[in-house]
Amino acid sequence: MGFHPNPLQSPGQTYGFRRMDQIACNPLLGLHLQELTALVEEFGQPSYRARQLFEAIYCQRIEAAGQISTLPQDFRRSLVERGFNVGLPGIEKKFVSSDGTVRYLVACADGQTVETVWMPEGDGGESGDGSEADAQTEGTGRAWERATICVSSQVGCAVDCQFCLTALLGIKRNLSAGEIVGQVCAVLNDQKVSPPQERVNLVFMGMGEPFLNYDNFIKGVRLLVEGVGIPETRMTVSTAGIAPRIYDLGAEAVRPKLAISLNASNDTVRSRLMPINRKWNLERLISAARDFPLRNREKLTFEYVLLDEVNDSAEHARELVELIRGVRAKVNLIALNPGPGIEFQTPRSGGVLRFQEILVAAGVPAFVRRPRGRDIYAACGQLKRTVELTAMS
Ligand code: SAH
Repeated sequence: MGFHPNPLQSPGQTYGFRRMDQIACNPLLGLHLQELTALVEEFGQPSYRARQLFEAIYCQRIEAAGQISTLPQDFRRSLVERGFNVGLPGIEKKFVSSDGTVRYLVACADGQTVETVWMPEGDGGESGDGSEADAQTEGTGRAWERATICVSSQVGCAVDCQFCLTALLGIKRNLSAGEIVGQVCAVLNDQKVSPPQERVNLVFMGMGEPFLNYDNFIKGVRLLVEGVGIPETRMTVSTAGIAPRIYDLGAEAVRPKLAISLNASNDTVRSRLMPINRKWNLERLISAARDFPLRNREKLTFEYVLLDEVNDSAEHARELVELIRGVRAKVNLIALNPGPGIEFQTPRSGGVLRFQEILVAAGVPAFVRRPRGRDIYAACGQLKRTVELTAMS
């Protein structure tokens, strides 16, 4: 449980009085309806207050418990007095790109920061079903017809992919379910956007490995679906290849679509780029992909970051075709975003398109993902890294 098991036991000592603008020691964000029901009952309130709280936190995304006007004043006051508050993470920094991408540095209550990215118009490669039908206009009158939010799952990452900037940070800690949902709520509030009326896709492709924080990640997903109102079919989770959790995801009643960061067509190259391949090699990973129970018309996504002269040859493309033969999947090709401390280069001119042509000619749907927000440091983990490097110098 995310809150004190008996909040009324010693309110003075444990919680004391807190100003409403202070960071709550007991965030409500991250609690599901049953947990909120237990909480309101401990406060001697009728259980329907839990639904009111749930709607205020996730649908209306009210930022302070004291402002939830559907609740009686005295209940609001006692919540705050006992240290309960919404617990929305703050936006510490915001970088706006010339292409409309906005990168947020989001601050957790303990001062740790993660990055969350807002991409208007989405990124045709990773959202939707790959048919490109998503790009059609829906007459919303906005500058964008749909937007994608890229969400982090951990502070830093333990997986150590050799081309990824987040890996250089190491792992600091898991994000709670509330912090995962909180990133989305903070960005929606900043952008003044409300699903489901306005179309928002989510990709769990920010900092961290979602499947090494599985329970919080999947709880976050449920709250985002049931509370915030983003359909599960508009969410994609990307994994570096934690094979057992792929089976767990397949067994979930509510789950995002699955993307697997493949990045190599054989074990030798993959183990060099992604040491996790020594634990779950391509045979185990592709078996998990083949066993994954896809919904009607759903496709798996394989992501493939192209690195010059490492995994981008015509031979690699043909090997990839054979590796994934028979899996109902599309491939998203991403030219490496280079960065400080990364030993690889982006493919030379034409390399990405030649790779794509080989896949397409073999009948594999393959898309080249546009780099987003290059001018504000678009590579995975780069915003935080840049900020840290600047702070150090
Ligand atoms: N840990 C998860 C999700 C975070 S990484 C995973 O590995 O899938 C999200 C995507 O960004 C992955 O497909 C990863 O391969 C890609 N990526 C990481 N570093 C990159 C870089 N420097 N340039 C381009 N893509 C990168």
